[in-house]
Amino acid sequence: MGEPTAKDYGREASRKWSAIQANEGYTRRDILRWGALCGLAGALPMGLTGAGCSHLRALKPRHVVLISMDTLRRDHLPIYGYSRQTAPHISELARTSVIFDNAIAAASNTAPSHASMLTGLHPLSHGVRYNWAMLSQDVPTLGEILQGQGFSTGAFVSCIALHSQTTGLNRGFDTYNDVGPLPGHRRAADTFRDTVQWLDSVQKGQQIFLFFHVFDPHFPYSAPVGQTLPGWGYSGIRKGLPLDYPAMREKMRQGFSHEEIQAYVNWYDEEILYADMYVGRLLKALQDKGIYEDSLIIFLSDHGETLGERPWMFDHGGRVVEEQIQVPLLMRFPGGWGQGARINSPAHHVDLTPTILDALGLPPAAKMEGASLLPAVKGLDEGIPRFQISMAKSDPERCPEIQDIINKNQPVFAIRHYPHKLVRYPGLDDKPILRLFDLEADPMETIDLSLVQLAIAKDLQQRLEAWIRQCRTKNQKFKEKTLSPEVEKSLRSLGYLS
Ligand SMILES: [Zn+2]
Repeated sequence: MGEPTAKDYGREASRKWSAIQANEGYTRRDILRWGALCGLAGALPMGLTGAGCSHLRALKPRHVVLISMDTLRRDHLPIYGYSRQTAPHISELARTSVIFDNAIAAASNTAPSHASMLTGLHPLSHGVRYNWAMLSQDVPTLGEILQGQGFSTGAFVSCIALHSQTTGLNRGFDTYNDVGPLPGHRRAADTFRDTVQWLDSVQKGQQIFLFFHVFDPHFPYSAPVGQTLPGWGYSGIRKGLPLDYPAMREKMRQGFSHEEIQAYVNWYDEEILYADMYVGRLLKALQDKGIYEDSLIIFLSDHGETLGERPWMFDHGGRVVEEQIQVPLLMRFPGGWGQGARINSPAHHVDLTPTILDALGLPPAAKMEGASLLPAVKGLDEGIPRFQISMAKSDPERCPEIQDIINKNQPVFAIRHYPHKLVRYPGLDDKPILRLFDLEADPMETIDLSLVQLAIAKDLQQRLEAWIRQCRTKNQKFKEKTLSPEVEKSLRSLGYLS
């Protein structure tokens, strides 16, 4: 066999790319051979799109755009199999993106998950353990790192849980545009308006890091009039059903009819459709300004939502059930690199910052707990087991099946290694309450196997306990924010406080 020719490179690249598209992956040996073919032993495979060895450079983005849609369930997007066209603009973005099928939230609440996206750390380590807890001072943020690289950094957020005064997440942003005087939240239209003003103010050619957050799918599900699509069956049912949280709480205690549950699901979907319109407008604004093609654009959510499946029917937080911790995740690389690939490897909020830094050719910050997802995108993921950990703040009301034995306002953890998932609730007697589920056989997490599959439960518990000990040592400065009575009252009305 003679020296490989350019045609050989092309054929090999084409084969690997087909393998990725078919979701097959390939072996370490394949990669090393491919690196040798390119004359760069040990380097990553290039030419995933058949472009040859210079292709790696095409990956490096000039700008970074992070779009977060609050409370968006993965399975309510058509790209993840939902039958309704809830999000045409997200679907359009996905057409030229890499899609992650196994991304998990750091927490089932807003502030901890966003802090994990922006630091590469778990909530126990960055300090925003729950909503209304401040980011630890010694934790570097993605914004600070990119500021240091000369980026203009702007964040536009839409709810009180991400307010600079309640989280400290403004650190590293030249502009941190939140909901104004506490408390409150705002529509995507208002957030979009301020974002475009900022984009207009950025000097041409300046590198940007934009964090755009919309809140609309969060309860109360009440999109502006005109967002209903024909055939979704909304009208006429709304009357008499609560759209404020205290009344909703009472209604949840009483129960819902099937028709009432469907009405709330319809309104939730309307909110996605509404927020999606502003994702589309933002992407159009980026295109108009010549930013889009050179950007790494990431779309995701901070957590999902329970929509009628459980006794505590419409909510998130308090527990770590699948519909609340599975999140959508798309990455659009410059030029649509990798488009169409679907990645099954485990992904997590803590992986966002390491991935962004990797794509920019920057080293990860020393403390980060996540890992770059680029090897998985490139097919270099060797199937090393990764354990996905998620947390919440315990609330007996949200967990009626164990409400008499669970301690309040303590961490709830899940450790997930598909198909198994161990949930650790804080018990009243300080002993953990453990629940083990087989997500493949029991996706609704109804059959506890902790006393049946003892070895698996023990292994996952040991890993989790070791991880908790490790995080706690890094988190000496955890402090919850003291809220004023006025803020507390408003938060209660939004369902934030029990
Ligand atoms: Zn949220």
